[in-house]
Amino acid sequence: MQKHLTNVPDKGGHFGPYGGMFVPETLMEPLHELTREYEKARRDKKFRDELAYYLREYAGRPTPLYFAERMTRELGGPKIYLKREDLLHTGAHKINNTLGQILLAKRMGKKRIIAETGAGQHGVATATVAAMFGMDCVVYMGAVDMERQSLNVYRMQLLGAEVRAVHAGQKTLKEAINEAMRDWVTNVRTTHYILGSVLGAHPYPMMVRDFQSVIGREARRQILEKEERLPDELVACVGGGSNAIGLFHAFLNDKGVRMVGVEAGGEGIRAGKHAARFQKGGSLGVLQGTRTFVLQDDDGQIMLTHSVSAGLDYAAVGPEHSYLRDLKRIEYTYATDDEALEAAKFCSRIEGIIPALESAHAVAYVMKNAGKIGKDAIVIVNLSGRGDKDVSQMARLLKL
Ligand SMILES: *Cc1c(COP(=O)(O)O)cnc(C)c1O
Repeated sequence: MQKHLTNVPDKGGHFGPYGGMFVPETLMEPLHELTREYEKARRDKKFRDELAYYLREYAGRPTPLYFAERMTRELGGPKIYLKREDLLHTGAHKINNTLGQILLAKRMGKKRIIAETGAGQHGVATATVAAMFGMDCVVYMGAVDMERQSLNVYRMQLLGAEVRAVHAGQKTLKEAINEAMRDWVTNVRTTHYILGSVLGAHPYPMMVRDFQSVIGREARRQILEKEERLPDELVACVGGGSNAIGLFHAFLNDKGVRMVGVEAGGEGIRAGKHAARFQKGGSLGVLQGTRTFVLQDDDGQIMLTHSVSAGLDYAAVGPEHSYLRDLKRIEYTYATDDEALEAAKFCSRIEGIIPALESAHAVAYVMKNAGKIGKDAIVIVNLSGRGDKDVSQMARLLKL
């Protein structure tokens, strides 16, 4: 057992030199309270059973581990399995985390839920569980994103959430997170903040990882049933990094399992044109509560980012990814917008599965590298979400 891989974070939320709690004084006590309550909840069998119940009966777990037979044959390389998170209620892995956090909020006696959202997927998953548990819900969203993702705005409103437009700065995800934090400071007595990825201050990166790690626990059991051995390689896209660590975590101590995280290469690795934090432009910094790899210039100014997929378009990566990269346990690469679009088309036509553009980055990696991965190898690709939300964008960009 390589314990250092799985016994993080420490009590202060540190993954080696990364993570921590970089927030205003007023948020320290709420974060400590959340940490204490979460630690109690995760040791409580009643809490774990309740979460398992809703994941099964409401969200649709377990998701299939599907052998992509035609993709395997077409690429002529390894045996490819798709972990079908796209089949979950609301269409992506995000519901695993929002269900966990709303049960925690209920336990803590909170009556009101807030969240931030970029593309709207996390906002929809939050509005969904808030509706189901009868809680008030406010979702902060950049004004530019609201325009680009109007369908998800309507979905949230239909679910009874109030979507608040944020007009500061770039009017996208980063500003929406600032606004949600401000709300939380003011209303913390009644309100729980459901953060959407393995980002922000402790305990969020740990808590969101734990809620998402059901993906890998299932996949590990499923591949052992189907193939009677562990896979050779796991592949997932990395925005904040929650679907990736969710798949990888249960395999971290399996030495023979290689893991690859695929970031957004956008239009190529040039300043302002991508969101690949582990490529050129990324360095150690602090953003929105945590210390990690951040896209910033020499003066520490956060750089603009770009990706065809809104869910990968953020300047920081979850601190645990920075840690596991230093230890060389996970390798990171990127796929460009064009490669992701081609992969989305390929997956749709060869398997009848339209993937989210985020997930298509992981498929693009397999398309590019199938030749290098041995024919006898087994690869699991995390299909983090479905592509319904991206169809009009794909139609335009692929000139269908
Ligand atoms: C939000 C989202 C992502 C990116 O978030 P992670 O925290 O990196 O998983 C990836 N895929 C889909 C489908 C998403 O909705």
